[in-house]
Amino acid sequence: MIVGNWWQWEEKAAVEETDFWEEKPMDNNIVLKIFMESQNKIVEMELEEYVEGVVSAEMPATFHQEALKAQAVAARTYAIYKSFAFGSCGCQKHPGADICTDSQCCQAWIDNKEALDKWAVPEGAHYQEVIRKAVRSTRGQIATYEGNPISAVYHSTCGGRTETASEVWNSSSTAHPSLQGVECTYCQHSPYYKTDLVLGFPDYTAALNKGKEVLPVLAEGNTPLLEAVKLSAGGRNLLLKIGNPGPFYSGNEVRDLLGLPSTWFHWRIEGEKIIFSVRGHGHGVGMCQYGADGLAKEGKGYVEILKHYYQGVEIEDYVFSAGGQDENAPTEGSQAAHHPAVTPAYVVDTPYL
Ligand SMILES: [Zn+2]
Ligand SMILES: [Zn+2]
Repeated sequence: MIVGNWWQWEEKAAVEETDFWEEKPMDNNIVLKIFMESQNKIVEMELEEYVEGVVSAEMPATFHQEALKAQAVAARTYAIYKSFAFGSCGCQKHPGADICTDSQCCQAWIDNKEALDKWAVPEGAHYQEVIRKAVRSTRGQIATYEGNPISAVYHSTCGGRTETASEVWNSSSTAHPSLQGVECTYCQHSPYYKTDLVLGFPDYTAALNKGKEVLPVLAEGNTPLLEAVKLSAGGRNLLLKIGNPGPFYSGNEVRDLLGLPSTWFHWRIEGEKIIFSVRGHGHGVGMCQYGADGLAKEGKGYVEILKHYYQGVEIEDYVFSAGGQDENAPTEGSQAAHHPAVTPAYVVDTPYL
């Protein structure tokens, strides 16, 4: 059962406009089984310590404090959503683990030393404190929809509009009312908001020929045989065709082959070059991280930020009974267990590592 008292923390957030902040007390802190890619084994770690490592890995420490707090809640929510303790199936790639540190599967995570190496001195200690503050001041809080933790996925930059999960992941199991596309004009300060990738025809041909089969990718007159067959409601390429009658490639396949930052792209020809104009970076579903930073800089608090990107959610404390005997504790068959087990191909992106 989730106990809803987020409003108390909204009031507290207002107080935090000064440098004062208070570590949010918490009665319980579940222990997660985390598959560490770097060690190739499962390590047990308390949730809150884990969340600090995720925020360090997944969001620049220079982002606004309210964005870092939104990231902490999203990371915690996703971990809870995946955990056995809440009736989930855990990481689908690593049996026995609640979650793993592979960003393409679950969420990236780095330890203190890796974080300090990434930030370098003298800012490192300051950044560590900034992230610790974001995590501890939101301690235990998660995003819920009708009382259940959501699959709180996120990405670097949406490029103007986030995407509905079921559109890009093409699976009914990823459809969730909280993961609807929303307008986002707040990520324009991202270096990925609009980018161009210029490829000479030889490089373009070589990149696509690493795909399903060797293809004639250029027609007579050097016209690229690339055609958008299906677009998402938000304009992302879902299915493309190369040549006639094909083959067909998913938007993600073409994105990977060409090294594009997202599947939201158009192209044009200039001389012997093909120029891809790309919007955003990442899958575009859930919270736009640069957008969170932009909203925070406009004065929005982390609760408001989360409610913008995750439609219809509440921010609440999770309650967990370690013994599992509490009648309120989520168990198999409880509400929490009814969540679809979701592991989309691109759960999160980590453009900062
Ligand atoms: Zn995983
Ligand atoms: Zn955005």
